[in-house]
Amino acid sequence: MRECIFCQIVEKKIKAKIIGESENFLVFLDIHPHAPGHSLLIPKKHFANFQELPEEYGQEFVKIIKDIMLKLKRVLGTDNFTLGVNEGPLAGQAVFHLHLHIIPRFKNDGGGSIHSVVYNQPKESVEEIYQKIINASES
Ligand code: 5GP
Ligand code: ZN
Repeated sequence: MRECIFCQIVEKKIKAKIIGESENFLVFLDIHPHAPGHSLLIPKKHFANFQELPEEYGQEFVKIIKDIMLKLKRVLGTDNFTLGVNEGPLAGQAVFHLHLHIIPRFKNDGGGSIHSVVYNQPKESVEEIYQKIINASES
């Protein structure tokens, strides 16, 4: 996709600090890091979000995540990470080419867990939500 920043990184039209690559994925350092080694893992093909990523990429996706974590662990000396996708604008997605944030975590780094991203306390009980999900017909 011509106007997509991350497609342009894949096509080497925009420079990035690439730290890993496999057949279908690329990993580079985030330009505005929230931690040392904050990396973005993207598919080389343009998929807007995680829901668009075909299932056949699964094994390669898991492998490159693990390879990058190992590389960062060796260099940065931590095996603690926050992994996350901002899926959609309401979740904070700003670049609409799927990217997994891989954020190394350190002692006293001032950050929180995934639980600190949102606390939108449900009005319905867990049981009610559960029943809705279970009873919904497949679409
Ligand atoms: P989002 O909010 O979409 O999950 O995050 C997009 C991320 O992409 C941000 O963390 C931002 O710093 C990073 N980013 C945006 N443009 C560029 C770029 O041109 N190069 C690199 N390396 N990172 C970028
Ligand atoms: Zn793209």
